[in-house]
Amino acid sequence: MSDVTGRLAPSPSGEMHLGNAFAALLAWLSARAQGGRVLLRLEDLDLPRCPARYSQGVMEDFRWLGLDWDNDPAYQSQRSAYYEDCLVRLAAQDLLYPCYCTRRELHSGPTEASAPHTAAPVYGGRCRALTAAQRADYEAQGRRGALRLRVPDQVYALTDGHLGPYAANLAREVGDFILRRSDGLYAYQLAVVADDAAMGVTEVVRGRDLLPSTPQQLYLQEILGFSHPEYCHLPLLLAPDGRRLSKREGDLSLRALSKRYKSTELVGVLGCWAGLLDKPAPVTPQELVPEFSWGRVPREDITVTDLPSS
Ligand code: GLU
Repeated sequence: MSDVTGRLAPSPSGEMHLGNAFAALLAWLSARAQGGRVLLRLEDLDLPRCPARYSQGVMEDFRWLGLDWDNDPAYQSQRSAYYEDCLVRLAAQDLLYPCYCTRRELHSGPTEASAPHTAAPVYGGRCRALTAAQRADYEAQGRRGALRLRVPDQVYALTDGHLGPYAANLAREVGDFILRRSDGLYAYQLAVVADDAAMGVTEVVRGRDLLPSTPQQLYLQEILGFSHPEYCHLPLLLAPDGRRLSKREGDLSLRALSKRYKSTELVGVLGCWAGLLDKPAPVTPQELVPEFSWGRVPREDITVTDLPSS
């Protein structure tokens, strides 16, 4: 086996759909084509929205597709102590502060601009320099603080293995971001960076909707002393009306599709969208390994119009 370690990192907040299957298949293929390992991590931080039966369902769907993994699956919901540890290390560098802003205050601040890459507004810094007395005041009112990370006025850049150069100035385009919500929930940005490092992940393959998060993740890796994995972001699968396929499209859930198709037929369709097959012939993921090359995978989003109607 090579030193490459890829990962499948589904969020089990509902049934798996074709878009999840496409991302998982390509993450698996990329690692396997390099003779690498594949690890599975269930991103079930928001446990009430990610009941255990969905995690089971995701794993059944992956197995049905013919995807395997080389570890006992990791569950983010069981790793709070480790995330807290990471926060302690950041607090020791004076990089965290409690933020008491309500949703309404966040969206009404005069100094906030809209980030070009994400829908989220840039945090205006209202709680960045609160005095101890002001903090105590908020706490006395019963407000619970979220923990924000101070970001520098600095550009974080990467060369994505598939989509090329990407960069963002964290202070101007992102703002101080939350690592632990006021209700105690750890943020995706923290958990993903902490876990990729702990699991020895060297290659992250995921949808391009997460490309704008990558500069934040590079910064977190730097201040936590972790190495940077390689990143390859994938085009998204779009419904014919241009919207991204989502869990709302119940008829495109793998569970529903598995009643109409053999897994090899679906893998053939996904492999064809990925540019690895000329036409959607039945195939297993293993049989696609020799066909895999990033040069064949499209960079533009893929409109899903041609699911065979068997
Ligand atoms: N859990 C995320 C998702 O299912 C993926 C996170 C990542 O790959 O960094 O979209």
